[in-house]
Amino acid sequence: MDHIYNFSAGPAVLPRPVLQQAQQEMLDWHGSGISVMEMSHRGKEFTSIIEELEHDLRELAGIPANYKILFLQGGASSQFAMAPMNLLRGKKNADYVITGQWSHKAAQEAKRYCTINIAASSEEANFTYVPKQETWRIDKNTAYLHYTTNETIGGVEFHWTPEFPEDNQIPLVADMSSDILSRPLDVSQYGLIYAGAQKNLGPAGLVLVIIREDLAGKPLPGTPALFDYQIQIDNHSMYNTPPTYAIYITGLVIKWIKQQGGLSAIEHINTRKAALLYDTIDHSDFYQCPVAIPDRSRMNIPFTLKNPELDAIFLSQAEANGLVQLKGHRSVGGMRASLYNAMPIEGVVRLVEFMKEFASKHD
Ligand SMILES: *Cc1c(COP(=O)(O)O)cnc(C)c1O
Repeated sequence: MDHIYNFSAGPAVLPRPVLQQAQQEMLDWHGSGISVMEMSHRGKEFTSIIEELEHDLRELAGIPANYKILFLQGGASSQFAMAPMNLLRGKKNADYVITGQWSHKAAQEAKRYCTINIAASSEEANFTYVPKQETWRIDKNTAYLHYTTNETIGGVEFHWTPEFPEDNQIPLVADMSSDILSRPLDVSQYGLIYAGAQKNLGPAGLVLVIIREDLAGKPLPGTPALFDYQIQIDNHSMYNTPPTYAIYITGLVIKWIKQQGGLSAIEHINTRKAALLYDTIDHSDFYQCPVAIPDRSRMNIPFTLKNPELDAIFLSQAEANGLVQLKGHRSVGGMRASLYNAMPIEGVVRLVEFMKEFASKHD
């Protein structure tokens, strides 16, 4: 087998040069004689790693000075609770836009802390599109509005950012777990951004949080210290031991994105990769993607075969061709190809060649 292409939805493919560098540095990081895994998180070596990551990330994503960057644990799911615990700030309700399973889960968790208003939902169409903002019903007294920029399971992505009138600036909270840094973004439009690392940033164990600093500091009574953004800010993500190795690898990934030419260059490649696969699906009656064309994800592409009885054969032959982890989410069935930043275009070319050949043999 010359090369394996990994289409997993997460934990997902990492850039090969990053893994190679980590391999080289595994036993002896920069002449320190020890592995990053063995370092004190408060020592000068690890301090330089986390500071460089923050610096590179700020530069790459254009993160303004009044936004704090946190490197936390507990996955994106921890933020489903941490967002309401910190951002209600005396209010009693929060708005959620539901476009799939992850935004649904975020809203369910927030219900533990406040009243939820579903501003919009595409559930009636089995979460296959993004409701237009004109149709949203936003509560006047909402503490914030939460949405999921890319639904990893359903393959539905926002290609626009919600906007609010000048005189009613509602803090926008975005779960960007599966499309962060896949395209340029304007951080200043958001109150809070969070992303589990294991999709598009690095290994599992780390969740990245970007928060406008004035929103922290008024947690619900009883909020655990670890769940208090202000405490995490004051302690530079080191109130307790942070996920050091995941932070190190994420630092290498950010440098790799910069080497690719930054977010506009990455977006360009991601758009080409997704177009290759969608064109193949749309130009055959053998494959189908249920998502409305304007809202299709560039990161996670679900598709079904005309005859689901062929699913198992498709998967085993794909694997024999070096194309792995294409099985769809258990709740959806069919296939899902995740084309994160680290998936090279060659992998998508190989996938569409395989799909065309498979269709011609089994149609
Ligand atoms: C994977 C995922 C999550 C959950 O992430 P964990 O790190 O497992 O908690 C939440 N939201 C989105 C959009 C995801 O893709």
